Amino acid sequence: SIPLGYFGGIGAASKNGILFKGSNYLDSLANIRHVVLDKTGTLTQGVFSIQDIQIKKELDKEYILHLVNMAESNSTHPIATAIREYVGQEAPSYSVTHIEEIAGHGLRALIDGRQLLVGNTKLLDKFGISYDTEIKDIVYTTMAIAVDNEYAGYITIADQIKPEAKEAIQALKSHHIDCTVLSGDKNAIVRHVAESLGITNYFGDLLPEDKVTKFKAIKQSTTSVAFVGDGFNDAPVLALSDVGIAMGGLGSDASIQTADVVIQDDNIAKIPMAIKIGRETKKIVW
Ligand code: ADP
Ligand code: MG
Repeated sequence: SIPLGYFGGIGAASKNGILFKGSNYLDSLANIRHVVLDKTGTLTQGVFSIQDIQIKKELDKEYILHLVNMAESNSTHPIATAIREYVGQEAPSYSVTHIEEIAGHGLRALIDGRQLLVGNTKLLDKFGISYDTEIKDIVYTTMAIAVDNEYAGYITIADQIKPEAKEAIQALKSHHIDCTVLSGDKNAIVRHVAESLGITNYFGDLLPEDKVTKFKAIKQSTTSVAFVGDGFNDAPVLALSDVGIAMGGLGSDASIQTADVVIQDDNIAKIPMAIKIGRETKKIVW
């Protein structure tokens, strides 16, 4: 039978928009020693705005932006939303004959008889396309663009760190819970976000499978590990964790299904709050 205290714990949590899929996860959260976090949509708002667009002079910028917009209109990634908002809804003037989302890389599309690639530098590397290597040092998320296997330019986009993130991380650290950031975004930005929040363990430029490898290594060195993600390219890690926590606001349906705990809004302060409720239910001092 379930001790009555667990009902109180689950009730207190749900009043705060924290949904536990079972009372056993209250127990597991109480014992967490390490919290691994995704960056985009978890530590940051996951809402990007366009900073800069640099398209090679000899190319038609309007046309390329139009192709990018058409390709991204097939994606639900937060990056895609930024482009759609910037360019606006357009009448599709070319047929998209092929579109594929390459996890952790970006998109490949066939539009207007051309091959369009839009994503990170790893995407261009994959197709053997050379580019201006300086784009790796830009401290913004960068969408590199290639048309018919020729580098065409890039778009930089910026996200904001959540205002409550620093305090939430401090609360975890003050209760001797280690934090690590795993991200598919550029290392330069991941470092910036982690350092701003006082997190010393961070890894960027990770493919979905690299996140799994890193996560398994952390699990081997710690008794109990939670993962917090927004569900874009992190469902495998959510499934591997002792407690998988999905941020519900932007999160994909798949991640909400895989997760053990769902935070209904995007407030990262709910992570230390959930652990605190878990510990209080188990009568462990927070
Ligand atoms: P994160 O771990 O930060 O959530 P993802 O694994 O979802 O990041 O994506 C990693 C990187 O792949 C992004 O930073 C971006 O460079 C590229 N990318 C992914 N999806 C897209 C897309 N739809 N359009 C352009 N680039 C993309
Ligand atoms: Mg993500």
